[in-house]
Amino acid sequence: MIDIDSYLAKIAAFVADKKTPIVDLIAVQTKDPFKVLVATILSARTKDETTAAASARLFAKAATAAELDQLGEEEIAALIKPVGFFHSKAKYLKELPRALDKFAGQVPAEIDELISLPGVGRKTANLVRAVAFGLPAICVDTHVHRIMNIWGYVTTTTPLETEMALRHILPQRHWLTVNSLLVAFGQSLCKPVAPHCDECPLADCAKIGVRPRKRPGENPTTKKNPMPATSNSLKFVSWNVNGIRAVEKKGFVDIVKTFDADIFAVQETKAQPDQLSPELKNIPGYHSFWHSAERKGYSGVGIYSKMPPISRREGIGIAEFDDEGRVLTLEFADFYLSSIYFPNSAEELKRLDFKLRFNEALQRFALDLAGKKSVLLCGDFNVAHKPIDLTYPEKNRKFAGYTPEECAWMDQFLASGFVDTFRLFNQEAGQYTWWSFRSNARAKNIGWRIDYFCVNGKSRDRVLAAAIHPEIIGSDHCPVSVEFQIG
Ligand code: SF4
Repeated sequence: MIDIDSYLAKIAAFVADKKTPIVDLIAVQTKDPFKVLVATILSARTKDETTAAASARLFAKAATAAELDQLGEEEIAALIKPVGFFHSKAKYLKELPRALDKFAGQVPAEIDELISLPGVGRKTANLVRAVAFGLPAICVDTHVHRIMNIWGYVTTTTPLETEMALRHILPQRHWLTVNSLLVAFGQSLCKPVAPHCDECPLADCAKIGVRPRKRPGENPTTKKNPMPATSNSLKFVSWNVNGIRAVEKKGFVDIVKTFDADIFAVQETKAQPDQLSPELKNIPGYHSFWHSAERKGYSGVGIYSKMPPISRREGIGIAEFDDEGRVLTLEFADFYLSSIYFPNSAEELKRLDFKLRFNEALQRFALDLAGKKSVLLCGDFNVAHKPIDLTYPEKNRKFAGYTPEECAWMDQFLASGFVDTFRLFNQEAGQYTWWSFRSNARAKNIGWRIDYFCVNGKSRDRVLAAAIHPEIIGSDHCPVSVEFQIG
């Protein structure tokens, strides 16, 4: 177990001259629970600078619940724009004065009471209780959840689990401050993508699941320049999210924004489009496309794209596969990109035949596309190709995802001209994209590489970089990415 006092003291010293999170700043400036609550609602999925400006505009017109009650919903929306989801937040704020009536017009301090207010979830409630009232509460946002897992201080899969675990092990003297410290630390140094470990004061950090950034001038381990910042390339990300509605609660939208990819493909969405929140369907800057299974809560793929496609195609034209929502293809000027969720062979290999038939049909489909223009196939292939691609190859020879039949298909798929882009750049063992939820497998890096970006052979030289992002948590898989040359 880490020395948490020492860790948090080092972080406090490190972030001392960094920006104070906006909600703490408002608390220091006003000590007003109403303003803290409103600023906290505005701050969700919004940059601190934007929240600060919107709060100032709103408080100039409505510094109290009674004054807020005098404003119309559209007026509130105009004042708080452009904070994220300002229409929804304006609606919540319009309802807030009425909701406070049952607390005599005052902001309550108890978690259950706070959660009863419009637009207030557990994270906001904890933050308001801690920051506005100085009462014991641990606000666990994505930074706290992520960093506590990186340190191995907790081993959890959701912010709620992290909050519950911290209630048992984190000394109460840290409850009020841990969120502010880790938000500032997570925004400035221990970032979700490529954290600055080379500048970190925590020399003995376990770095669980982390891929630190490369320092300028450091020898690349890849064959070509990894992720070069060129203007003539596009960045593509693919992630089996294992339930997009579940991963939304773990910061999915922020993760998409942080990657800032041109295309972000997802698999195993387990949702019909009408079950998705407006926030999931309308990530700013992206068009979104979906292909879902007929069976609710099962399979499903999607693609977010900054560029409008020329055309889209759901499935591969074979009902038994298309009914399961496994393939979605977008066509662009000089390439196709398919988001694919290959079937799992399942326990006792009950679906191995189905999977092999799908594989063959998918390969024919991809070869047909490759006859027209470049093709990128991304997603969960549900197969570890070589012994290097899983921790225990011998033990798993007879199990789904590593049977001789599945590996033989991958052999001939690559022999037919497709390229496993990750292995163009990285030949190391221990590079995994999926870990069982059991036995603390992710913390021990006992995993499998079953998520891929493959391209047709003629497009091989257009792949400038390929990477795995094990530091991104929220699913039992992690994202994979490529940088692809255009023009
Ligand atoms: S992952 Fe890197 S930046 Fe984050 S706490 Fe550990 S050493 Fe520091």
